[in-house]
Amino acid sequence: MRVLLSEIEISERVKALGHQLSEEYSGRPLTILGVLTGSIVLLADLIRATSVPLRVALIQAASYRGTETTPGRLTINQSLVPDLRGRDVVILDDIFDTGNTMVGLYEAVKDFQPASVRSAVLLWKTARTEVDLEPDYFGFQIPDEFVVGYGLDFNDDFRHLPYIGVMEDEDLKHATATPQDG
Ligand code: 5GP
Ligand code: MG
Repeated sequence: MRVLLSEIEISERVKALGHQLSEEYSGRPLTILGVLTGSIVLLADLIRATSVPLRVALIQAASYRGTETTPGRLTINQSLVPDLRGRDVVILDDIFDTGNTMVGLYEAVKDFQPASVRSAVLLWKTARTEVDLEPDYFGFQIPDEFVVGYGLDFNDDFRHLPYIGVMEDEDLKHATATPQDG
């Protein structure tokens, strides 16, 4: 697997994002809303790089199958979301690809009547944006390649990698040849 972003590069950038959020949300009722499952590693690192009081909440979004580039139907599970009324919410996801997931999340979050909503992602595949929305905060703009690691999966594997790697054709062949597939 080719390393696109090293552990050190990610760590430095996430710390910078934490400082930026701390300045902009100082004195405000911040809730960081992590999107399951891809954002968990980023969420854990980002909140520890943030020096203002904040709450952590979780929401679940699913739309992807393997490396398929056309997302399936978006399903949002908001059963874990706490009361967000009057809170300044930052929706935190791993990657902004077409942007359809983030648009769906905005819709879902607005129903909770927060004071404000912004979006933050680690990665932004700028060439694939299909929506009239851009992430307010992002770590890195990346090319249109399928990436894994630091929370991002392929068929639920590879989330634990401390770096962001590109799945190349060879890697995909190995990854799909699991015992379950025969
Ligand atoms: P969007 O709705 O913006 O097209 O897709 C966002 C979701 O698709 C992300 O939360 C992520 O789960 C998935 N996704 C998009 N691109 C990639 C990628 O390169 N690698 C992985 N592992 N997931 C991706
Ligand atoms: Mg995701």
